[in-house]
Amino acid sequence: MTHAARRLALACTIVLIVPFARAGTPVASGTGGAVATISEQASQSAMAILDKGGNAVDAAVAAAATLGVTDPYSCGIGGGGFMMIYLARDKRVITVDHRETAPSSFTPSVFQENGKDSDFDATLASGASVGVPGTVRGWHEALSRYGTMSFKQVLAPAIGVASKGFAVSENFRRMSAENQKKLQLFTSSSALYFKDGKPLPLGTVLKNPGLAKAYREIAAQGQKAFYQGPMARAMVEAVARPPVAAGVRVRAGKLSMADLANYEARIRQPVKTTYRGYEVYGIPLPSSGGIAVGEALNLLEGYNLKALPRASAEHVYMEASRLAFADRNAYLADPEYVDAPVAGLLSKEYAARRRAQMNAERAGPKALAGDPYPFQNDPSVPQRPQAARLMADNAHTTHLAVSDKEGNIVAYTFTIESWGGSGIVVPGYGFLLNNEMTDFDFSGPHPNVPEAGKRPRSSMAPTIALKNGKPAFTVGSPGGATIITTVLQTIVNHVDFGMPMDKAINAPRLSQRNDVTTDVEPGFGGSAQALALEKLGYKWAAKPQEIGAANAIVFNADGSVTAVSEGKRHGVGSALVQKSAN
Ligand code: GLU
Repeated sequence: MTHAARRLALACTIVLIVPFARAGTPVASGTGGAVATISEQASQSAMAILDKGGNAVDAAVAAAATLGVTDPYSCGIGGGGFMMIYLARDKRVITVDHRETAPSSFTPSVFQENGKDSDFDATLASGASVGVPGTVRGWHEALSRYGTMSFKQVLAPAIGVASKGFAVSENFRRMSAENQKKLQLFTSSSALYFKDGKPLPLGTVLKNPGLAKAYREIAAQGQKAFYQGPMARAMVEAVARPPVAAGVRVRAGKLSMADLANYEARIRQPVKTTYRGYEVYGIPLPSSGGIAVGEALNLLEGYNLKALPRASAEHVYMEASRLAFADRNAYLADPEYVDAPVAGLLSKEYAARRRAQMNAERAGPKALAGDPYPFQNDPSVPQRPQAARLMADNAHTTHLAVSDKEGNIVAYTFTIESWGGSGIVVPGYGFLLNNEMTDFDFSGPHPNVPEAGKRPRSSMAPTIALKNGKPAFTVGSPGGATIITTVLQTIVNHVDFGMPMDKAINAPRLSQRNDVTTDVEPGFGGSAQALALEKLGYKWAAKPQEIGAANAIVFNADGSVTAVSEGKRHGVGSALVQKSAN
């Protein structure tokens, strides 16, 4: 079949949906392209692009742009992210880092007031937390280097959803209510997402003409429409003079037109580790996600988790995570500013040494950072661990997975940082500005202190695993620092415990991030699993909360693919697979 004929055939494909393999978990299997996102409209946008002959990159941007409409508190063009791409023809994995950067006005003391850390919540809901958004530049790089379609083509489905509107879901209404206080500080945000001071009721059709206009301008003029000209000026203005409601005062920020015009995405090599026969590709710095997941997997490799009682195996998983977090918190930051000991942290020899610090019987105390320097390629790198501190971390974000018929894969996590980001909708353009700068450590010395042009350390961890040189699965999740534990736990559930991916995603999540308590989800406390772990010394965080919202695709041995989304977290996700026309 010629390429053109194949495209035509693809355009006529039938979407095969096999939902609810397990109660509530969207699962779809077939032999064509696949998509898993947390939004039905976003998955449909990706499918529409795949059906028109677009590849996984084209479809991923289409889905992401739609998520910016339907899940605007989690993501959008006012933020940034990390896209991992498996290029089937070249059999290689690359990543597009489009993390927000600190404006040129930033200094290490930008979040210090009177010798103390600025108030976290007040900083978050302000112009001061806004970094230079990277998403549009990231989409541009991904499309122009690895895609086949134009902005105009891939933004069309999202423009449709933004103009025609979408029905407010229960999850959306709840998000509005939970973030009402922050969003209503700003008139532009109140006007878009609230009516008479209240969250829009369930079923209301929410249109976003401002965002449709922003997307149309990008579709017509490319990324410049975002980084130069009126849209850029509107962002600069919103940061300098946030559109606050009467009587409200928030901190202003200093974002310049030059900061926007000079923004660049980075094409970076992934980090890689091996785990029980899989090659696991992770996102490199400035995200700590790939390194922390990789180090924890290296630690876990020393145990036969399958043979252990479930509580003991989960204990080992949590201790591996604890140690990986101690190292992450001490060493990792933007690689263009800090010489982090990545090779040492990911070396198998370092893992063997570090494993000796794991207590196989009992929950450990807070761990100190290890010393990866003897395991570095260049052991002379003169940096020692800094005191590890857990910054306040206040999820959310979104993750999506797409694959196409040619075998290309996109694992994409992107964000505006907290729910609703800074809370500031850019007047006239319908998108929320990020608060990504609160991902810096507010005070040092620490590798992750704020600096002009620097990218704050992230936890985002889109992951692609190969086996025998062929794609095996891809997974990722939102959830701030819990992203790392969700990805790690899902891999352990799938690879070690042999759970099918839907079960691996559905399982209750445990997130140990080198703290005295471990985060769990509602309903976990009091379960047999919880009681068994309590006997090993575990204590649970006081307020159980939903952890993450994973999406995954499994590449089955028979050549078919299985897309999996969430059945209950963050509403309900959507998994679709094309049925290929032969
Ligand atoms: N800002 C977070 C990070 O980059 C992601 C946002 C979240 O999920 O909280 O790690």
